[in-house]
Amino acid sequence: MSLLWKITIGFVAGIVFGFAVGPLVPGSPVLSEYVMPFLNMIGNVFLKLLKMLIVPLVFASLVAGAASLGDVKKLGRIGVKTLVLYMATTAVAIVIGLLMGNIINAGGGMNIPAGLQAATKEAKPLLEVIADIFPSNPLESMVQANMLQIIIFALFFGGACVMAGEKGRKVADFFENVAEVMYSVTHIVMSLAPYGIFALIALTAAKFGPSILAPFAKVIAAVYLGCIIHAALVYSGMIAVFCKRSPMWYFKGIQEAAITAFVTRSSAGVLPITLSNVRENFGVSEGISSFVLPLGATINMDGTALYQGVCALFVAQAFNIPLTFQMQLGIVVTATLASVGTAGVPGAGLIMLTMVLTSVGLPMEGVALVAGIDAVLDAARTVLNITGDAAVCAVVAASEGETLKGGPAASQA
Ligand code: ASP
Repeated sequence: MSLLWKITIGFVAGIVFGFAVGPLVPGSPVLSEYVMPFLNMIGNVFLKLLKMLIVPLVFASLVAGAASLGDVKKLGRIGVKTLVLYMATTAVAIVIGLLMGNIINAGGGMNIPAGLQAATKEAKPLLEVIADIFPSNPLESMVQANMLQIIIFALFFGGACVMAGEKGRKVADFFENVAEVMYSVTHIVMSLAPYGIFALIALTAAKFGPSILAPFAKVIAAVYLGCIIHAALVYSGMIAVFCKRSPMWYFKGIQEAAITAFVTRSSAGVLPITLSNVRENFGVSEGISSFVLPLGATINMDGTALYQGVCALFVAQAFNIPLTFQMQLGIVVTATLASVGTAGVPGAGLIMLTMVLTSVGLPMEGVALVAGIDAVLDAARTVLNITGDAAVCAVVAASEGETLKGGPAASQA
């Protein structure tokens, strides 16, 4: 049986179990003194294992990601255009995610007390926040899991790997391999997810009863609506303005890759189809598509970023932690970088969510809340991830004077 099925079964079984035993807990010493504490222990171990992944995984994958940007300089104008579009669309995606999260307010009224981690950080003056982003001792940042400082150091380090030429290339390759190994460690930890998620969701369901079901449906609605809005406004807009083509031309051209992304939940896996769709249906040259799309599959994850915005807000709402404007700004910055460091494989965004939550001081238990429905969310965000790459690819091609294929021009339609 696939892990996805096991996680789904763990999630559903946990909810059913929790609903069933919840009302019995106060009157039953067996449940309250043995069963529930045991579930608590299992859940805690799972959360600790997730935390264990963050620092090495984020550092290694960001160094490798930053080093892969070395080609950007080589490609000059095209590289800069691609990068600017990728970053800008990602930032807009998170803002849409945060807006959807604020409007739909999926976690409102859940009032879950945060256990593992002291919640809110004190708000500091903005200038101090900016100064705090820079590490004075990178090892100390790692020991304290200070994500922003780790990210900054990783960007310096990855960039320097490019500057250091051949020797730097070797170091970057090493970190790429470390990232790969950390993804294998992630697989091991995720194989325990069905049990961890069963335990955590059973505890929550027992405590809160059926009132927790609606919030999950709302999170799914927020992510799907957000993805649709982002594609309809941002991508269609870019295609109309820069490529002078209709949204139909764009969505029809990329539909094969989009459907495959929805099913496989892996933008890296879909890359060959995205490449062929963009070349054959949009008429983008090989030169541009073979640079823009692989880079996008590695660093451009609008769907993942949007999802992180929605989920961070959901967790804050569920645990009743007020998010200041500064914290939301922090989410925009960390989620943009987290999406750069996210591998294009199923479920990678969930691991990076642990980093976003940690960096703004939100409780890690939130990850367990989201994990049970993550596959449903992953399908939508992967579609947005690859359609975003394709849109940027078409825009860059048009801006370089390439003639795109067919389709009614938006301005004439
Ligand atoms: N599955 C996504 C992708 O491949 C990454 C993620 O989990 O957010 O693009």
